[in-house]
Amino acid sequence: MEKVMYQHKWVSGEAISFPAGKAVCIGRNYVAHAQELNNPIPESPLLFIKPASAFCDFSPAFTINEQLGEHHYEAELVLLVGETITADTLEPLSHICGIGLGLDLTLRHLQSQLKAQGHPWERAKAFDGSACLSAFIPAKELELTQPLEFRFWQNGQLRQYGETDKMIFKLDHLLQEVTRYFTLQPGDIVMTGTPQGVGKLNVGDSLALQLGDFEQLKSQVQAILQ
Ligand code: ZN
Repeated sequence: MEKVMYQHKWVSGEAISFPAGKAVCIGRNYVAHAQELNNPIPESPLLFIKPASAFCDFSPAFTINEQLGEHHYEAELVLLVGETITADTLEPLSHICGIGLGLDLTLRHLQSQLKAQGHPWERAKAFDGSACLSAFIPAKELELTQPLEFRFWQNGQLRQYGETDKMIFKLDHLLQEVTRYFTLQPGDIVMTGTPQGVGKLNVGDSLALQLGDFEQLKSQVQAILQ
């Protein structure tokens, strides 16, 4: 099957001219989520990367390949980079051009096996279609220094609720820490970590994501066509 190329979009539907870059993802950025997976509270952010081949659109539907194992959802606030950010960038948040939401899909059993073996997580975290992304709201329409909240529903049940002021590492601190190792370029995204309430996705699920009072975004989970 030919893979549909992903492109970042504004909520207006207009395409964003930047190429889809890498996703730098944060693990364990909410105390209650670290605890639900019996992980220690980190002293510095846990970072991992998904390539652009992992990106797909959250709406109106996305596919999962159940042969890979159980897929777990992790709803997260997503920052879209508009201008290059390095470790020397003074106000890194001012270089974020868009805010969206996404699911960091995770093959949880495989991740547990890889963790137990001390191996990297890529198979469980960076596979094709593992970053399901919403369209982006222009950052100038939001006050990024003010708390933002988001919600995720599965089949009408509220599963996750996140607030940026409950993050262990706040957005500007995250960008400073990320760019000590990884330069962020236009079209890259930062997935800022998931709050508690992660769980299993099933083919046929109806999903919804909502950032603050913005319009609710709906999706359906479909089986991949083999
Ligand atoms: Zn995550």
